[in-house]
Amino acid sequence: MSITEKVNLTTGTGWGSGPCVGNTGSIPRLGVPNLCLQDGPNGVRFTDFVTHFPSGLAAAATFNKGLMYLRGKAIGKEHKKKGVHIALGPTIGPMGLKAAGGRNWESFGADPYLQGVGGAATVEGMQDEGVLATARHFIGNEQEHFRQVGEWEENGWDKLESAISSNIGDRAMHEVYLWPFADVVRAGVASVMCSYNQVNNTYACENSYLLNFLLKEELSFQGFVVSDWGAQHSGVNSVLAGLDMTMPGEVFDDWLTGKSYWGALLTRSVYNGTISQKRLNDMVTRILAPFFAIESVALPTEEDVPNFSSWTHHTYGQEFPYQHFGPIVQKNWHVDARSEFSDNTALTVAREAIVLLKNSGHHLPIDKGSGIRRILVAGKGAGPDPNGFNCRDQRCVDGVLTSGWGSAAVNNPFVITPYEAIAQKARDRGIMIDYSSSVWDLDNVEDLADYADLAIVVVNTFSGEGYVYVEDNFGDRQNLSLWHNGDQLIETIADKCKKTVVVVTSTGPVSMEKWIEHKNVVAVIFAPPLGQFVGQAIADVLFGDTNPSGKLPFTLARKKQHYVPIIDDLGGDRNPQDNFDRDIYLDYRFFDKHNIKPRFEFGFGLSYTSFKVCNLKITEINPPSEYLPYPQEYLPIYKLVEDDVCDPEDALFPHDEMDPAPGYIYPYLYNENVRSLDDQDDYEYPRGYDPDQPTAPVLAGGGLGGNPALWEVLYEVCAEVTNEGKLKGGYVSQLYIEFPSTILPSPPRVLRGFEKVFLEPGKSAKVYFNILHRDLSIWDPESQQWIIQTGTYKIYLSSSSRKVELCGEIDIGC
Ligand code: BGC
Ligand code: BGC
Repeated sequence: MSITEKVNLTTGTGWGSGPCVGNTGSIPRLGVPNLCLQDGPNGVRFTDFVTHFPSGLAAAATFNKGLMYLRGKAIGKEHKKKGVHIALGPTIGPMGLKAAGGRNWESFGADPYLQGVGGAATVEGMQDEGVLATARHFIGNEQEHFRQVGEWEENGWDKLESAISSNIGDRAMHEVYLWPFADVVRAGVASVMCSYNQVNNTYACENSYLLNFLLKEELSFQGFVVSDWGAQHSGVNSVLAGLDMTMPGEVFDDWLTGKSYWGALLTRSVYNGTISQKRLNDMVTRILAPFFAIESVALPTEEDVPNFSSWTHHTYGQEFPYQHFGPIVQKNWHVDARSEFSDNTALTVAREAIVLLKNSGHHLPIDKGSGIRRILVAGKGAGPDPNGFNCRDQRCVDGVLTSGWGSAAVNNPFVITPYEAIAQKARDRGIMIDYSSSVWDLDNVEDLADYADLAIVVVNTFSGEGYVYVEDNFGDRQNLSLWHNGDQLIETIADKCKKTVVVVTSTGPVSMEKWIEHKNVVAVIFAPPLGQFVGQAIADVLFGDTNPSGKLPFTLARKKQHYVPIIDDLGGDRNPQDNFDRDIYLDYRFFDKHNIKPRFEFGFGLSYTSFKVCNLKITEINPPSEYLPYPQEYLPIYKLVEDDVCDPEDALFPHDEMDPAPGYIYPYLYNENVRSLDDQDDYEYPRGYDPDQPTAPVLAGGGLGGNPALWEVLYEVCAEVTNEGKLKGGYVSQLYIEFPSTILPSPPRVLRGFEKVFLEPGKSAKVYFNILHRDLSIWDPESQQWIIQTGTYKIYLSSSSRKVELCGEIDIGC
């Protein structure tokens, strides 16, 4: 490949210059089309005839690994059918450090283990369907406020000097934030998206320690690093720091101008020797390798191109809509990407994601014997939004919640609202039904509640990505209270109706303190964003067609001071610093450490049946060793293929072949003068960088995800689960480990396994867990390695992070 062909793969063609949210240049000579990168993690964004899948948070709440895989597969399949080559999902950061964080609903809950399992299963599912997956966002993107300079003018944001810096300690980096990335790398993820924020005061997309060392050396990641959209802040530095692809191509401040840090400038920096061609080869090899390395994926040919456009829903439109340039061409083929498989998977995930938090008096499910003859359905979350089921990137908040807003949102092909599904079931049972969406003027609602035997109040809170703000919520939520007067609505109805059921649909934790102990609030359900089938799934649980089996993927606190706040103040130096003081004590680990009673703990969720767990057995499979052995071989870190730099004349714009389109980013030189602008002979590399620096092999590295010995099975844990109730149901057995604190203190309990089983009444099944070397390891910042401490490890088989069913021990001697 020529230098311009290579550069073409590394640089996006510009926002709107191509059908997808990101498009690389093409290599016509080799039949390689522009590669299409498209959001996102919950289905295909910006198009029609696709499924709006339940969110990542919903997948996490199922605690069902097989289902997580199937969801990934169904999402991957629809991307493939739409002609996407690289899907921008799954999201495995944010980690859920902050309860009000705008994007927590995209990823898999507030625990690194859960995020890792969810992320890896999704990557496998997506890639098995022939589309490359992208794990985003690397790393520390825990809030939306200040993620990017220039995003807003309000609140003094225009004075922001640089994006927020997430300051993460080495142990928390390894045990919490990097942990799920190790899982997806091991699962073979093709690409990783670096985030907008700074990490320890260097931008994530030009942070050599993060990209070159942690990701590519320690985790041995073999694919490519793509920037978040506009998260690149330098040309040469970002190349040297390990960025392989810039998206959407242009400089953030110069959107749509065609100005890029790379493109022609990258070509030039290779010709003038600033960047070695070896590094460019490394970038391109990393971008192309996944298409060859992953068996189920093929390098696209000129026929395998997108059949939709992100920029219009019309069938025909101008070629470059943002530049008002080019002929009218076909833009959308409106291919129906959906199938029975997507439908079943989306509905199953939605059903299994619903968490039953309270059911005092067992008023749920609503069944024949319950004597319920009049139902009131109330709250804005129960019915359609008067603005529609689709506003751009789902920023409408006046009705049923199907997702948060932002790039992870998907157009709804239809929505089954809670009212629609509940009403249908009520009618089938001869139950009378009334409905109100009033939330401020409550006089009539009071009357309706007074008359009803049972009231179902559907309330919600919304959040999303930082480029959208809704009613003063800049991505992140301003607080954890219910929107649309939800608390008062619940209280008013509960004061009148003895059986009030509250359904909370939300992008994250909410405060339930105002009404949770109201004696008439007999049942409470929590649902993360469930996609198009939201109402169906909720009604199925309310009426007992589905026995709830979801578990909380985060802790619901009693007091807001128990959560980590969003930083919404610029600080004196206008360079906001976010010190991750929680360290390794994320979510339930913090509550457990400080003995704080949560309202509902991580992993909690009720069922309509009851289960018993017995016969815990722990078997040693391989003897544990305190230290990891050095790996036998190391995967390559740089793919340094030598190549001659050719004549710059070859890289000039081919004017006789084509005319440039305005705003389009090309790899071509403007002239043959390739000396650097300021005529320096020696380019100054960033401090500390030496192109010939020898690297000693790291003990933690070696194979995909790190030292292969980390994945060695040391113990097997087994137990028997019995359904002792009268209904079929699903049970999630959760394995938590308490570490000894011989070298470093650890949280009282960390999640290290979960298995879900479905059982008919009276039936039993065995659950098995593998405890890996990694599961017993802590990261020792001092010696820079994973170590297993000597001492006693307590093994808890639990039905939530606080409810231990069985307990065993592992003794590791010196
Ligand atoms: C988001 C990414 C997304 C990208 C492209 C960015 O603003 O942070 O998650 O993939 O846009 O839409
Ligand atoms: C507030 C709600 C409000 C919502 C939309 C939230 O931060 O708590 O009361 O309805 O924003 O503005």
